Amino acid sequence: MKNRIFFLSKLSKLILLPLLFIIVVFLLFLSRYFNITLCISKIVLGVPCPGCGMTRAWYSVIIDHSIKEALFYHPLFILPVVIFFILFFKRKFTFFQKLYSNNIFWLSLLIIILVVYIFRMFLYFPYNEPLKYFENSFLMKIINFLLTRNVNVLYNIKQITSL
Ligand SMILES: [Zn+2]
Repeated sequence: MKNRIFFLSKLSKLILLPLLFIIVVFLLFLSRYFNITLCISKIVLGVPCPGCGMTRAWYSVIIDHSIKEALFYHPLFILPVVIFFILFFKRKFTFFQKLYSNNIFWLSLLIIILVVYIFRMFLYFPYNEPLKYFENSFLMKIINFLLTRNVNVLYNIKQITSL
């Protein structure tokens, strides 16, 4: 039983996690190729999240070989790689282990992400890419539905009173 659990955890680390990583990257690139957003914040609220532009940044690096374009889409595009290295090699290298267990490191990372997000929102939101407002969000659909319904109600009242 213990061996099996060990085997499964080993299996998940060696195969399942990298497989999951490849699938997620593949889906993200597919969404970029077809110009479909996978961002939950955009889909639900229409407002871009701090991670928005990350896929486009990496797409620029890998497909278009443009660091300049990548920096435009997301100035912190290198961050996922840094976090990936810390999480996957924390047992192998003491430097990564130290970073991993350092709360100040994670807190400063969070502050950097938030500051960059606020700065980018001031620069681009709501009219410009990469932080353009997403009109087809659920929230906007609900608001539009409620508004058109009220307009219809008003229109019907007008029709009835003008008779
Ligand atoms: Zn997003």
